[in-house]
Amino acid sequence: MSQWVYHNRRSVSVRVDIDTCTACELCYDRLPEVFVDKGDGIPLVIIRVPIENVYEDILQVAEDCPSGSIILY
Ligand code: SF4
Repeated sequence: MSQWVYHNRRSVSVRVDIDTCTACELCYDRLPEVFVDKGDGIPLVIIRVPIENVYEDILQVAEDCPSGSIILY
């Protein structure tokens, strides 16, 4: 459940840890261009816009996730 993101010649993988995600809805409420509720409250990572438009937002949402379940590496 991860997607590779390429930005300014750097790459990062965005992954959601489904074992720790509390389905709080924050990520797909704030960034629906990247996170989609797959039906049970747990998000899928599906980036549907140019990454330049959302790269900084992904970093911020990952920081704001209350359970630290959005993993960038
Ligand atoms: S913000 Fe974090 S805890 Fe909330 S739904 Fe997204 S991944 Fe899960």
